[in-house]
Amino acid sequence: MTNDPTPPLLAPLRRACILSIGSELTVGDTRDTNAGELARALTAEGVAVERLTAVPDRLEVVVEAFTAALERAELVLSTGGLGPTPDDLTREAIAAVCGETPIVDPDLERWLRGLWRRRGLPFPEINRKQAWIIPSSEALPNPNGTAPGWFVRRPDGRVLVAMPGPPREMRPMWHDEALPRLRARALGAPVAARTYRLMGIGESQVAELLGEALLRAANPIVATYARADAVDVRISATDAPPALDGADAPGARVRSAETLVAEAATVVEARLGPHIWATGDTTWPGAIGAHLADLGWRLATNERGTGGQLGALLGDVPWLRLGEAWSIDDGRADDGPAALEAARAVRTRAEAEVGVAVRARLDGDDTKVTIAVVTPSGEDVDERTAFLGGGQGRTRAALATAAVVFARLRDARRD
Ligand code: AMP
Ligand code: MG
Repeated sequence: MTNDPTPPLLAPLRRACILSIGSELTVGDTRDTNAGELARALTAEGVAVERLTAVPDRLEVVVEAFTAALERAELVLSTGGLGPTPDDLTREAIAAVCGETPIVDPDLERWLRGLWRRRGLPFPEINRKQAWIIPSSEALPNPNGTAPGWFVRRPDGRVLVAMPGPPREMRPMWHDEALPRLRARALGAPVAARTYRLMGIGESQVAELLGEALLRAANPIVATYARADAVDVRISATDAPPALDGADAPGARVRSAETLVAEAATVVEARLGPHIWATGDTTWPGAIGAHLADLGWRLATNERGTGGQLGALLGDVPWLRLGEAWSIDDGRADDGPAALEAARAVRTRAEAEVGVAVRARLDGDDTKVTIAVVTPSGEDVDERTAFLGGGQGRTRAALATAAVVFARLRDARRD
């Protein structure tokens, strides 16, 4: 397939595979961070990443991985295997896949030899292979190491980019050398994305409300993520050209990524509206802080049995006048009135407009959470059950408190 004499593919590169090459990855000594970083960068460019693959330093395996990747995608990025030692085989593998023979590039060799000369050291002949090039490759400069990258243009329009494994060499090469060349060559498609952050609902319930049709669509993509502080629904889309097979009505036009996201967003908002507390990457302190700023209010908190998790969640924010954390008071039978009393007291003591008190205590396998909020608009006590006990339960108790405080402030703004 890669030897197919079809004319160059001038359309933008829309699909990519990423290969991470090195036995240190497949034995688990080194965490593969390169693939994730590159996947994120490609996704932002509107490129669909089809596979992330890690392979050991074995020539036949690396060759097979490149061959499979080129069958799946027009763009293949690799990191690793560009070192000087015999186990660094990426150049050999790419040459084999392209059916080309490496030669030593005189300019690269001069540059390499210069690196050693500058340090007054003899040039190790083993490093000579880092000056290799094949006819269809262009060397990508590496100012941070001795391994130049390869930017390979296949006759059929496919592109293969090989970069060094060390992240501090890979990142600048990607950013300064590879990405500009890919953009000039035409890369990806216009993208649009929107993230909704949800409270008071689990991921499976979100999936049920959104329905399979929406969650399985290829464009826009609607995906749910259970994060530590919320369930997120992320909508993303790329410009959709009219179907190539003529299935679209005659004269059908490109549907923009923005339009596709907006359409899906209407559905998401209709089905999940009451649970949405933020969009984008807003955090709980960010969302609460925005309401407080708007109201001109400040906060004071009193927590018991939470291990200080509410304070940890809110963090170092200027609108938190006072945050106190106590151990649970086991003599108490009824937390509601005690919490309300504590909320009033901390509010007064801190001269804050909003007083919050939370009580968390083990209740079977779960955690019973009592949340009292006192604001200039009124007083409320909420009872919640946080899933699990121990540290998990305490963390969830703090998240439940943030959600209650957020809802009270939102109501106060609407009043
Ligand atoms: P290389 O000589 O190009 O094969 O890369 C050598 C070093 O780069 C390895 O010993 C790792 O420390 C680092 N490295 C290689 N691949 C990766 C990867 N995918 N993610 C993070 N670090 C990597
Ligand atoms: Mg290696």
